[in-house]
Amino acid sequence: MLLKTILNRVQRHRLFVYGAIRLLEGLGGQVISIEVEIRPRANSRPTCSGCDRLGPGYDTLPPRRFEFVPLWGIPVFFLYAMRRVDCLSCGVRVECVPWAEGKNHLTTTYTWFLARWAKRMSWKEVAEAFRTTWENVFRSVEMAVLWGRERMDLEGIKAIGIDEVQWQRGHKYLTLAYQIDAHHKRLLWIGRERKVKTLMSFFRWLGRERTAAIQFVCSDMWRPYLKVIAKKAGQAIHVLDRFHVMSHFNKAIDKVRASEARALKAKGHKPILKRSRWLLLKRPENLTQEQEVGLALILRHNLRSVRSYLLREDFQGFWDYVSPSWAGKFLDRWCTRALRSRIDPIKKVARMLRKHRALLLNWFRAKGQISAGAVEGLNLKVKLTTRKAFGFRTYRAIEIALYHTLGALPEPITTHRFC
Ligand SMILES: [Zn+2]
Repeated sequence: MLLKTILNRVQRHRLFVYGAIRLLEGLGGQVISIEVEIRPRANSRPTCSGCDRLGPGYDTLPPRRFEFVPLWGIPVFFLYAMRRVDCLSCGVRVECVPWAEGKNHLTTTYTWFLARWAKRMSWKEVAEAFRTTWENVFRSVEMAVLWGRERMDLEGIKAIGIDEVQWQRGHKYLTLAYQIDAHHKRLLWIGRERKVKTLMSFFRWLGRERTAAIQFVCSDMWRPYLKVIAKKAGQAIHVLDRFHVMSHFNKAIDKVRASEARALKAKGHKPILKRSRWLLLKRPENLTQEQEVGLALILRHNLRSVRSYLLREDFQGFWDYVSPSWAGKFLDRWCTRALRSRIDPIKKVARMLRKHRALLLNWFRAKGQISAGAVEGLNLKVKLTTRKAFGFRTYRAIEIALYHTLGALPEPITTHRFC
């Protein structure tokens, strides 16, 4: 079977035909690339790149190479001499061709090919696997993201989650807005920093009508977020996300443990708290058998770390309530106990919970209607993507990578899928 036959099956163009196909060899006889000539179909007229209308030909430019999907590890190029159109409304313009956009030297098919692989592997790996540059992979992903963002469907968003993630050393944050409806979870929007104006620009992007249709908002206790949500989506039930609430506990326990371990060491005690960090931070059901034994040993001591740990484990009961009023009573009792604990980081958490009592109890009003683990799950994926992205130094790259992996963006429908 001729290569041309296959090409005509997987990618046929109405106004163009495939011509001669050549194998380019190096000095030692090794195969370097495959070149496929393309010609306009007989008597066909070029399409103006300015207005998309057919027009009379003006002249023909020297041939250009467009990279196509490699075959058996051999790079494939289309070879085509672009014509210029003498357009009635635009003047003399270069024609547009169906296999590539503008000045891009990669064919659109190859661009989507690279972008699809970039969902499965890091950009660096894609570049290595297909012997192309990191830059080419990045541009391809960027094209896929721009294409998808222009066509994303924003109808029917009822629940959103606002999250923040650190992306560089030195307290640099991103604000992320997710859709967390049961049937549709995805990253909607990314903003630089986590200020009032950051989240304001999200709501501006979403638009007034769609914002008014939101029924549930999930967020952290970060004050700028609370402020903007109250102002912009006051009609929605605002829930404090369980995952974020519990992460405050973990930060507190970590602080208590670290300072206590230091104090014990200074007094020359046995290093009971050595290697205890994860024993205390992980939920007991997630511990390995060995860790369980380790935890049991620590729990025998009357340490501040242990008391903090037990207070957190007690608090987990809060989330199991059904009625907001009973949950409220539980919360008040817990806060009273925590405030008497004489452990400052835990007292701080208790004061924070007390201050946001109403928002915490909203959890029970929204129960069953939003997917509780959604924010946590998406947050985890965001962290994985940013970690995988050692190559990303710029905000633009991280933004593109996150939209690409988590945006659930639409893709064009093609007759043949190359990967
Ligand atoms: Zn034109």
